[in-house]
Amino acid sequence: MKYIHIRSLKKYHPSYTDRKLKFAKIFFDMVQGDPDCEMITNEIDWSRLIRFILLELQAQKPIPLDRNYLEKKGFNLKKRPIELTIQMLQHFLEIVTEPLQNRYVEEEEEEEKDKEKEKSKIYVDWEQSTLNLWNSFCDKNLSLSKVKEITDTRRRQLKLRYTKDSFRNFATILKAIEQQPFLINGNPNNQQHKDWKVSFDWLIENDTNYIKVLEFRYKNKKQGDWKAADSDCQTCAGTGWDETDGVKKICHCRIIR
Ligand SMILES: [Zn+2]
Repeated sequence: MKYIHIRSLKKYHPSYTDRKLKFAKIFFDMVQGDPDCEMITNEIDWSRLIRFILLELQAQKPIPLDRNYLEKKGFNLKKRPIELTIQMLQHFLEIVTEPLQNRYVEEEEEEEKDKEKEKSKIYVDWEQSTLNLWNSFCDKNLSLSKVKEITDTRRRQLKLRYTKDSFRNFATILKAIEQQPFLINGNPNNQQHKDWKVSFDWLIENDTNYIKVLEFRYKNKKQGDWKAADSDCQTCAGTGWDETDGVKKICHCRIIR
């Protein structure tokens, strides 16, 4: 079986995301200005061109070059043989065979893939910038732990959070953390909050933690009171920061007991 395919069919597509098309695009220069169109000297072929465009757009695949089908669609083939129309419309039509009949759908799928690629590039950039924001935040707030790499678990969680505008704007979350010192310093004097502070994993692990930060739920939580570092301290040698397990945290010598 052979099929009629309109070359550059997409030109006539109104670019609806919704695939149920209600109209097609027909251009003014098809009446005047397009040399190919001006060479169509037969009125029947003209109307057939428009109908081929509509039929193929609607079917989303090339239409059968079949007598019964065309007659059912109202083509009067006795009035003008289809072969002559195809000849006349050769700049617009292409006769394709069965294996090619999904060409139009394939083109759309190609486009869809490109869009996906573009989207994933935007995501990767966002992920990297989120990581950078967090790590430079840790440079300013030494009690917090930097993130070395985006593991698979982290990526899975980040992708979920990425769907939320409120999370995507990660800098706003960091600003809110800055205004709630408990999140940065925890409260080592309180058994329950001993050593607790905000971490990257805690922020991304669900849809509630970061929202609580944005809603300033930790604003009035008591944070630890700190003394000046003990200059004779064996853990920190007077710097006030304990780095013994590879993570900077406030040294025990600063905790008021
Ligand atoms: Zn110390």
